[in-house]
Amino acid sequence: MIDPVFLRNLLLVLTAFGGAFLAALWISLVVWTYRDIRARTRDPLVQILATLMTAVLNLPGVLVYLVLRPPRTLEEEYQHTLEEEALLQALEDLPLCPGCERRVKDEWQVCPNCHTKLKKACQSCGKLMELPWNICPFCGTPAPGMRLEGSSVDEALRGLKLDDETGEVRIE
Ligand SMILES: [Zn+2]
Ligand SMILES: [Zn+2]
Repeated sequence: MIDPVFLRNLLLVLTAFGGAFLAALWISLVVWTYRDIRARTRDPLVQILATLMTAVLNLPGVLVYLVLRPPRTLEEEYQHTLEEEALLQALEDLPLCPGCERRVKDEWQVCPNCHTKLKKACQSCGKLMELPWNICPFCGTPAPGMRLEGSSVDEALRGLKLDDETGEVRIE
């Protein structure tokens, strides 16, 4: 038969182990809650309340904390704000059609919605130019039928002189 003294000792050891385990679990839950709430809010009052709740209520306290805690960590919140700002910026950067105010793309010549002319193609190189431009910035070909501030294109070009030394264009 089993010795009753041995049985009592075994029970004592098991209880001690169980108690130690529960204490360790209790402490780690409090530490976990403290770390988690610090990653989610900078409010010291909320941090103290959340940690206290876990310290007093233990496991049920953690469950309540999991339900009530802020859904995003500060890091996630920051990333989220950055993404939102980038999205808004991208939307603002898109040009609007002057005819119907819808968003149009830079490489479009005509608005597909209201058929307003947005850009014109260069006669020589085919690259897109803004409508008010009189000369193609890519190849230097003057736009047909355009006049440079009252004078003809030839007259305007005659006034420009290439500086041999610096390679700059000067107006004389
Ligand atoms: Zn339009
Ligand atoms: Zn051109």
